[in-house]
This record gives sequence, C-alpha cells and structure tokens, in this order.
Amino acid sequence: MIRPPISKHRVKPVSVPLHQTLRIGLYVMRQHFSGVKHYPLVLMMEPLFRCNLTCAGCGKIDYPDSILNSRISVEEALASIDECPAPVVVMAGGEPLLHREMDQIVKGAIARKKFVYLCTNALLLEKKIDLYEPNPYFTWTVHLDGNREDHDRAVSRDGTFDQAVAAIKLAKSKGFRVNINCTLFNNADAGRMAEFFDFTQSIGVEGITLSPGYAYERAPDGEHFLNRRATKDLFRKLFSLGKGKNWAFTQSSLFLDFLAGNQTYQCTPWGNPTRNVFGWQRPCYLLGEGYAKSYKELMDETDWESYGTGKYEKCADCMVHSGYEATAVTDTLNNPLKAALVALRGPKTEGPMAPDLPLDKQRPAINNYDQLLAQNLETLQTEGRTNNLKRMS
Ligand code: SF4
Repeated sequence: MIRPPISKHRVKPVSVPLHQTLRIGLYVMRQHFSGVKHYPLVLMMEPLFRCNLTCAGCGKIDYPDSILNSRISVEEALASIDECPAPVVVMAGGEPLLHREMDQIVKGAIARKKFVYLCTNALLLEKKIDLYEPNPYFTWTVHLDGNREDHDRAVSRDGTFDQAVAAIKLAKSKGFRVNINCTLFNNADAGRMAEFFDFTQSIGVEGITLSPGYAYERAPDGEHFLNRRATKDLFRKLFSLGKGKNWAFTQSSLFLDFLAGNQTYQCTPWGNPTRNVFGWQRPCYLLGEGYAKSYKELMDETDWESYGTGKYEKCADCMVHSGYEATAVTDTLNNPLKAALVALRGPKTEGPMAPDLPLDKQRPAINNYDQLLAQNLETLQTEGRTNNLKRMS
C-alpha cells in the first residue's frame, strides 16, 4: 500500500512529481488549518477480495466463494471516490487486475484528479497493460516482499518474483511510474532486504512502500508477523544499511522515523478509510469490526477513540502506514523543522528509543468474525451481488 507520498526519505534525491506533492500538501494544510479533525489522506478501495495467489500472510482470501466472487461495480467505485475527499486512491484487494472493469475504475478516478496507485501482484500485468496509459496521476504498485527466495516464499509460489520483475520492466519500458509495496515479516533479514532494495533501484523502481507485517485478525500465518519491538529493531538495522544509498520510500520521513522507534505515535484510523464489497469498513483497512453504508456514516458514527495502540487489544502490535502515516503527516505540519531534519539525516538508528504507549488499559479483543460474516453474506444476498456474478479477468 500505500500510501500518501507527502515526502520521500532517501539518501540521494530521486524524481517526485512536484504537482503531486503540492496538491496533497495543499489539501492536508487546508484540512488541518481549517480545523477539520477527521479527514482522509488515502481511500483504500478493495473492489474484490478474490486473488490469484494464496499468500500465507493474507487474511482476505479465505472468505467463502460467494464473497470472493462479489465485486464493487464501476458506478459504486466512482460514487465512493466522489464521496470521499482523499486525494489518493489505492486500488487494493484481492488482486485488482482480476476485476474485469478495473481499467474503467482507474480512468474514472484519474478523471476526478485522484492520484491512483494500483496494487498488483503483477501476474496479470502483461496481459492487461494495454488497457492502461501512463499518466501523471497513475502509478503501478507491484507487490514484492524481497528477493526471489523471500518473495516466492511469502506468496507461496515459485516463479512469482521473476514474473513481477518482468512486469516491472515492461511497465517501465512503456513509460509508467512503478513503485513496489514491500511487507516485512519477522523472518526478514535486513542485509538481504538491503540488497533487494538496491536491486529495485537498478530496474528503475521509483518508490518503495514499506509495511511491517501485522497480525491482523484474519491473517492465517500469525507466527511470522512482527511485534512492535521487533519492528523497530528490524527497521533500525535496515535504515542503517541504507545510509548513502538511493532508496526512495513513498512514506513521510516521520513515519519512517516512527518505524525505527524514534516517535511515540497514536493511530489515526480515519486517515485511510476503506471501501470494500461490504461497505465502508470500521475502523480501518486491517480490522473489520463493522461496516457503514456511506463515507459520511463511517466518519460521523465510528467511535474512533476506542481504537489504537493501548486502547484495543487488536491494535497492540500495529505500526502499519494505513494507521500511522496520517499521524506522521499531522506531526510534520505541527513540527516542520523536526520533519525536515529527519528527512535530511534519515531516521536515527542508534540510541534509546521513544517510549511505547502503555498497553495496560486496552480493552480486550472482540471476536465477532462469524457474526459479521453472516451479516455481510446477508447484505450481499439482499443486494443481489452473489446471484449476479460476472466473469472475472
Ligand atoms: S492501530 Fe489503527 S490501523 Fe492499526 S489495527 Fe488498530 S485501528 Fe487499525
């Protein structure tokens, strides 16, 4: 994912579309200084849950077929984009390229001057690429979790790394911007990841979105997800290896500093509202604790204060950008000098870490998956989606 490219931490500069930085920066400042508390940065659009991979770390693909075969239509997707003022739209899933009308959703979002990031495992990219055109508002974000061995193991299929790299090269040759989305698990080796980031630079990848693996409730392979301390240690090692390198991360400098254990941040769950086939997901991209019928209902009627680190057991280990990038962006506005210094020097990789938020008062996790699943199935049946399946891909 992704995430709002407000600034890029890197040791050497690379090209960032200036109009994108300015547009997003102006949007954030307008919201912030006009006193709007709950404003979104990134709309996470999951037009379907079906995927053509079965990654060990994914909690979306074990839904029943009636849900996996359900999709958000072009009209619904564009209506949701119109409802939500976020300047960035991330097409996630499932695998978005399995959605037969994905190109129309992307075109509609671009026509609305949204910065669109299409997250894909790239297995269908070569087949579908001619449906898309290079555009300053459009970026492919290819899922790559490491070098050949690490990535193929993460996605549980040999050959996937080579296919993704071939797709990246093809997209670059056709003039597209290409980022990668990289989730790091607790078996990640900082040295191997550093070599992998060097490799992505050599094939022209323009941005790297980092995500610490988080044991969200439906992920089947919880044992490999990072806890907070392990996350910070891993990113400190990684960033120390990155000094003097040309790695370009798509996240803000202060979010990277947070990953390295140098900031004490609370989550901003409304920063990345999520729209999927069930509706608007509460409270965030990672946790499905209920669904709102509209963006307004999501923003107005979600009890935001009951989520976040130290507030809710399911949030205890979460450090993902969909929750904390918006916090880092707000901190950047409040403390521009601090942000500029971190951007210049890179995150601190030695010395004491910032204190963690206490966990002793968090409310216990509610396990309502089965109940929500039954409700969601009923909603989909009522809406006729499960009886009106269209052929995929
Ligand atoms: S900390 Fe925030 S982003 Fe993370 S799971 Fe909780 S609500 Fe979601």
